Amino acid sequence: MRNNKFLYIITLSYFILGFINIHFALLGLVCMSIPFILLFKNKKKTWCQGYCPRANLYTTCGKFSKSSRKTPKFFIKGNMKWIMLTYFGISLFIIIMTTIKVGTESIAPMKFLRYLIVFPIPWEMPQLINFTNILPWITHLSYRFYSMMMTTTTLGLLLALIYKPRTWCTICPIGTLSDSYLKGIKNHKN
Ligand code: SF4
Repeated sequence: MRNNKFLYIITLSYFILGFINIHFALLGLVCMSIPFILLFKNKKKTWCQGYCPRANLYTTCGKFSKSSRKTPKFFIKGNMKWIMLTYFGISLFIIIMTTIKVGTESIAPMKFLRYLIVFPIPWEMPQLINFTNILPWITHLSYRFYSMMMTTTTLGLLLALIYKPRTWCTICPIGTLSDSYLKGIKNHKN
């Protein structure tokens, strides 16, 4: 990471903000959009190369790990990135569909966290500030989004501690989609 060494504070702040009020989780949508805006504009992985707070968190935490294990080959050249992309796609699909169902009052909003989409976390998040008049589907979307961010961030942290710090980047759905887009441009030119 060649820019700011303290970008990881943004990632930590995101998760802390969720304890202040879960609706701040929707800021994650901005974090998910910027890499693609920069990609389409610059035709290179500007975000990944210098601005990603999550990668900076992994680099920072990876320094505390004494592990020298190499990243598994099936992460770099195998199907792991496609498995992770599929997981990401299924997560987004579930998030969108359940949010629509909450919006149409077909189901109740989810007001707790889930790990890996399906495992409920039996613990109520403290909410230091309460916002009033928030529509139930917005609350549902916030908990779902926070859950997805929490799952992928902790998986990446685990990988950073077991293997090389930026192992997550080899299977990150945003990285995979960016690579596919750039490959598509290259093929189109040839
Ligand atoms: S691959 Fe993913 S985690 Fe890694 S720098 Fe890019 S967006 Fe961040």
